[in-house]
Amino acid sequence: MEENTLILGAGMTGLAAGIASGLPVLEATDNPGGICLSYRMRPGDDQPLPADSDEDEAYRFENGGGHWIFGGDPTVLHFIRRLLPVQHYARRSSVYFPDSGAYVPYPIQNHLRYLDKPLALRALEEMARPAPPGTTMADWVTGNFGDTLGELFFAPFHELYTAGLYNDIAAQDSYKSPAALGLALQGAFSDAPAVGYNTTFIYPQGGLNVLAQRMAAHCDIEYGRRITAFDVQARRVRFADGDERPYQRLLSTLPLNQAMDMAGLSVPARPDPHTSVLVLNIGATRGDKCPDDHWLYVPRSDSGFHRVGFYSAVDRSFLPASARASGNRVSIYVERAFPAGSQPDERAVADYCAQVVKELQQWGFIAEAEVVHPTWVEVAYTWSWPGSGWKAQAIKALEEVGIYQIGRYGRWIFQGIADSIRDGFIAGNAFRRYPGINDSGGER
Ligand SMILES: Cc1cc2nc3c(=O)[nH]c(=O)nc-3n(C[C@H](O)[C@H](O)[C@H](O)COP(=O)(O)OP(=O)(O)OC[C@H]3O[C@@H](n4cnc5c(N)ncnc54)[C@H](O)[C@@H]3O)c2cc1C
Repeated sequence: MEENTLILGAGMTGLAAGIASGLPVLEATDNPGGICLSYRMRPGDDQPLPADSDEDEAYRFENGGGHWIFGGDPTVLHFIRRLLPVQHYARRSSVYFPDSGAYVPYPIQNHLRYLDKPLALRALEEMARPAPPGTTMADWVTGNFGDTLGELFFAPFHELYTAGLYNDIAAQDSYKSPAALGLALQGAFSDAPAVGYNTTFIYPQGGLNVLAQRMAAHCDIEYGRRITAFDVQARRVRFADGDERPYQRLLSTLPLNQAMDMAGLSVPARPDPHTSVLVLNIGATRGDKCPDDHWLYVPRSDSGFHRVGFYSAVDRSFLPASARASGNRVSIYVERAFPAGSQPDERAVADYCAQVVKELQQWGFIAEAEVVHPTWVEVAYTWSWPGSGWKAQAIKALEEVGIYQIGRYGRWIFQGIADSIRDGFIAGNAFRRYPGINDSGGER
């Protein structure tokens, strides 16, 4: 029988798999890039324009907020550089305390000299204690950073970032908040070296959309093919328009929970949770207190957001052409997390937009907002219950019916663009047709 493998989704993972394998890619939307898709918006116009529009007086934004390419295997970075030139950046990031207006460089635990002395000493003393055993993210954070930094930043920030799951989910991705007493001590008195997964990053000249388009040019993509179900008995995918297509195997970048639902499968373990993110893309005249940071972590905001990023602090090409030299305008992304299944309606989003603009004005970050545009990422951050076996069981159950889950959402892991591309390359190569090797066991 002729092998028939399809790739689902033309985000970064699916594009890389499509390039490596030459297999067809089925994409729900009309564009490649998925959550990394860029678009443009003119002041005074609420209709997004394509990122490659020749409208010079528009802000450029990204679907999922600023996406900076950090880390990554050298071979993946080499691949990206072959497709287009990139700029290199060293992270400028802080924790911002709106009540006092204070900034503490990120990560806060390695910059204790920015805090009051008694507080810094107490934090150091608590960090020096051995971390008690614990199972949840809250246990891990308090165990490693103590109550003082916990109350000041870690607890309220994680509460917002995980949309309230912080006390119930397993600790994960501990490399995001490196806990090292030596560095904390060093940072209490002088500069400590930058640490974490995103100390440096690259960004494509011309925007992330150019990377997606150049990758797509090497793929066989069918756009407008939204899949609604997998008939795992008959091995057919069903599309939103009623069409069907047979398959033998699928390489799916769709979120694991959605793939399970579409396949009509369940496993004994309780499904792990995810959170959604409402991204607010804002173009505005610059406020007199607008920082130069690339992004800020916020432990408290009236509007409920936890991170504010500044596209234009990274690259002025995000601004309308007439503002690029002076930098008198600013383009911003604001992220707020929501528990799964609680997408706010249009009215609530409009109220939220107004509230965020007001708050950023009060903070002095912006003067007049020219563009305010919300986007919704349904599955944004994936989490696990302590000791959960759901992810492994779900991936296995799908594999048994010929569906291989790949990428950040497919595999339910924290992963950046570069790692998603690597995942796609590995999977794509494993499914590539090699002369002399058949697809159902052994050599021809
Ligand atoms: C808020 C946020 C910020 C992030 N910031 C960064 C960052 O700064 N740097 C970084 O490196 N990474 C960042 N990431 C991670 C990065 O976005 C991912 O690693 C990467 O984009 C994942 O790509 P993907 O192709 O696996 O998924 P996606 O981009 O989600 O692609 C999936 C594709 O499948 C399509 N699809 C979905 N459902 C269907 C269906 N039913 N039928 C057909 N097609 C379908 C979608 O339209 C989409 O094109 C961030 C993620 C989030 C959520």
